[in-house]
Amino acid sequence: MNKSETAQSRDALDGVPARYWQKLADGRIQCDLCPRYCKLHDGQRGLCFVRARRGNEMLLTTYGRSSGFCIDPIEKKPLNHFLPGTPVLSFGTAGCNLTCKFCQNWDISKARGDDRLQSDAAPEIIVRAAQETGSRAIAYTYNDPVIFLEYAVDVANAAREQGIRNVAVTAGYISDKAREEFFSAMDAANVDLKAFTDSYYRALCSAKLKPILETLEYIKHETGVWLEITTLLIPGHNDSPAEITALSEWIMDRLGPDVPLHFSAFHPDWKMRDVPGTPAATLSLARDIAKNTGLRHVYTGNVQDEAGQSTYCHACGRCLIGRNWYEITSWALTENGCCRSCGAMCEGVFEERPGSWGARRIPITLGGGHHAVAQP
Ligand code: SF4
Repeated sequence: MNKSETAQSRDALDGVPARYWQKLADGRIQCDLCPRYCKLHDGQRGLCFVRARRGNEMLLTTYGRSSGFCIDPIEKKPLNHFLPGTPVLSFGTAGCNLTCKFCQNWDISKARGDDRLQSDAAPEIIVRAAQETGSRAIAYTYNDPVIFLEYAVDVANAAREQGIRNVAVTAGYISDKAREEFFSAMDAANVDLKAFTDSYYRALCSAKLKPILETLEYIKHETGVWLEITTLLIPGHNDSPAEITALSEWIMDRLGPDVPLHFSAFHPDWKMRDVPGTPAATLSLARDIAKNTGLRHVYTGNVQDEAGQSTYCHACGRCLIGRNWYEITSWALTENGCCRSCGAMCEGVFEERPGSWGARRIPITLGGGHHAVAQP
């Protein structure tokens, strides 16, 4: 960062006190929120851009400000075993702590100007919007919620008081110090396992694989958070049968057979517009490989594939939840989440019957009177 950029950043710095940092002996401040451990001089921002040093403290500069709100089907997160068919109020802020060259939300994650953030999104206003729209959960998504931890946790705690659940959609790149606070506020998480090689993470995301594997094990074994995993398959980068086998075997071995795995299709975007989209056959092959390792619930995403998006009983093979994109087409679970044919338990968070939200995706604004207003 050059001097004029530092001066501009300092001028613009405003926010709430951030947690997870320490003063270093050389006078810099180290952010301990994610495994980047950015070391900052006064006036500098971290790689995520939204956490910054002002004087002798760290700030979160996006607290209470959002890049937009949308009521989505929970299946779009994607979560297939968590309150199927219900609406979820989704929002994000700006910035990201990864630098994925294939980012599908780069307009938000790479946002530098604060002008695209809607202000007046205080926690209680978001929770009220969730209530008014009948949303069963709030999803922290679009950009990685790890970087706005203080804001996400405040919204999540306010939501819990009103019986609304919380969903994190994240790359899982968070330090061990911060994991507990963040995930204890969540009820479900979809974590990207972007690939199964450290070289991929380093080259395409400037990150490391190990902390993400640690996050996955932490969520599964040390929290009550419902966990699903997404892997975006990019032709020529992470779609070899050997890598898919290794990734699936690791999940089977370390997390068990019941953690759902979603293989989703890549569409050329951001800095990887020269790579073709993922063929449907690659997704189907990946699904077959993962199922052959013993994983019980493996899905395809971002393609038309009813068979690959439905949920089946691991014991007798009956279709338990039929899905066509985000629409539920059939339901064969008992009121306590077991197969109606053979009685085997399907792991997840289910209610007596599915919701009826369907595939609708409705952007909303938080109006001047702080009511949620659906946009035409
Ligand atoms: S959260 Fe942001 S400032 Fe903190 S270490 Fe990660 S990238 Fe750096």
